[in-house]
Amino acid sequence: MSTHDEADAEAAELVETIDPGDVADGASFVTVCIQRWWNAGPEEQKRMWQIFVETGIFVAVCRHGFMLYICDMIQSGELAKYELALTDKLINVYGSNLCIGYDIGCTFSSTVSSSPLLAPKAHATNLRFVVPSFHGHAHNRRCQLDWHPLYITDAGLEDFEACESVFSFSNLVAATVCNATAFHRHQAIEELFKYWDEQKYANLSR
Ligand SMILES: [Zn+2]
Ligand SMILES: [Zn+2]
Repeated sequence: MSTHDEADAEAAELVETIDPGDVADGASFVTVCIQRWWNAGPEEQKRMWQIFVETGIFVAVCRHGFMLYICDMIQSGELAKYELALTDKLINVYGSNLCIGYDIGCTFSSTVSSSPLLAPKAHATNLRFVVPSFHGHAHNRRCQLDWHPLYITDAGLEDFEACESVFSFSNLVAATVCNATAFHRHQAIEELFKYWDEQKYANLSR
């Protein structure tokens, strides 16, 4: 029997307070999804944030894999502000009925709903989040019933995991840019994704 009630009991682990700016900031209680999300961040990363100014990139790609937007993450890990800014940008440019896959999309949806700037826009444009299909397996059944693409008929066969291919590819430049100036770092990343997009474009016609 797979009822919401059963899974709710499993999710009822209420713990800790959420740091301001955390991706889960805005959630009314700490679910298993959030707990597992926190646990997935290795300790070494936290030390790395104190060494580098730009600690990584936060990206948005379409379902074909084209790079839409890239922003630097500055002296931090993944914070709500990056996804909030990108979501705002995506709505401004692409308009209504967007469906965004995000590893912690289930929880981040509450973060958007509690944002005074973004909530009205998200609601008016019918924005929705899903949890990408492979990441969905780290979320419990209660979450999957509402957020896993498998159960969202409009999602078709899309797995919402395009970012994973992007990062696997962009690891190629990580070693060369970690000591570069901001300009050269941006230039290398830009060139890399220009090449990436050309490949994706060529593949569309096959
Ligand atoms: Zn979840
Ligand atoms: Zn596309």
